[in-house]
Amino acid sequence: MMNNSRWSLLPSILLALAVSLTLPLSSHANDSDVARKLHESLIVMDTHLDTPAQLVKPDFDIMARHDPRLDYSQVDYPRMQEGGLDGGFWVIFSTQGLLTAEGYQASRDTALLRALAIHKMAAAHPDTFELALAPEDAARITDAGKRIVYMSIENSYPLGEDISLLKTFFDLGVRMVGPVHFSNNQFADSSTDPSGQQWQGLSPLGRELVGEANRLGIILDGSHAHDQAVMQMIELSKTPIILSHTGAEVIFDHPRNVSDAILTKLAESGGVIHMNAYGSYLKKLPDNPERSKAIADMRAAKKAAGTLTPAQSKAFMNQRRAIDVQHPAALASFEDYMEHFLHVLKLIGPDHVGVGADWDGGGGVDGMYDISEFPKITERLLKEGYTKDDLAKIWSGNVLRLLQQAQVYAASSAIE
Ligand SMILES: [Zn+2]
Repeated sequence: MMNNSRWSLLPSILLALAVSLTLPLSSHANDSDVARKLHESLIVMDTHLDTPAQLVKPDFDIMARHDPRLDYSQVDYPRMQEGGLDGGFWVIFSTQGLLTAEGYQASRDTALLRALAIHKMAAAHPDTFELALAPEDAARITDAGKRIVYMSIENSYPLGEDISLLKTFFDLGVRMVGPVHFSNNQFADSSTDPSGQQWQGLSPLGRELVGEANRLGIILDGSHAHDQAVMQMIELSKTPIILSHTGAEVIFDHPRNVSDAILTKLAESGGVIHMNAYGSYLKKLPDNPERSKAIADMRAAKKAAGTLTPAQSKAFMNQRRAIDVQHPAALASFEDYMEHFLHVLKLIGPDHVGVGADWDGGGGVDGMYDISEFPKITERLLKEGYTKDDLAKIWSGNVLRLLQQAQVYAASSAIE
């Protein structure tokens, strides 16, 4: 009897074995399908789209599919569809000049034009893009089949010393503001200024900026700010702050990344970090002096040429491609990116993490070179055991909560 039943089990054992042998392949395909479906069902936002820098180029078409290896563009409407990206924060970035009245004014005008370029994109394609001002706009715009356009400021340098100008940008739609970029400015110390710190964190004007952002209902962004300025922003701000595109220092020790102590403090205060995919902040990439020199020489020639004609612009683009062929850029990998991501998730949990990969601003890794490959993040996080609810928060819920908190605070302080 025992013997018989053992033998009678054989066919089912063989069947199970056959199934298990085929399982890795079919389950892999399934994983990706399940991830893709889930990804499509979520509101997917990136908090640092530097794409407005492309929008101001005369021949750039957001509705056309670009090849990032040919023209370095990483975001456009066709690839937003491919990558399931519903939108995010479109950045008004300003390069920094001298900290003088003339410098501020020139930069203010450029920043206003950058804001208008974002408006123009939405106005020119009203069935495709819509400006978002409140947290509930994200779902409404997505449900209408359109892409979400929140606006943010990277580097408050163009505000000069007139804090009231933040209201002008708020009225234009800005809902996130970062005080500083690569160098110290009138508001704060930068994490990367070669001359070191000037203010021991925020300047008196920087503290005023925090208060004004709170008053208006704008999220404060500590990316690029010196650690000390980030800690002061967390302490001073009445609502939680964001690091819109930053990494983990314990994975790679770079001034653009933050320590576990700061991450813990950020999470305790309700804040969020959105993970940056900027290669040279993810790990030590091999030095390539020939490439660096060729690019520096090309940039100098471009600067000397002043305003470029379309023909000159094309010539520089061809030159840049030639440099890439001759001295290819070293890239970090998707796994390098996920190492930062998973560390931070493990440390502070899915209520405090999101995605801000620095598209069109230097982001992109081997395996996720533009937004079309975004579903890979969802697939990888599902594999790590994160749930649909976690992913909903990571992809937009957390930053929308911050905007909600900022606006609730602004409304309550207006009443007082
Ligand atoms: Zn940046």
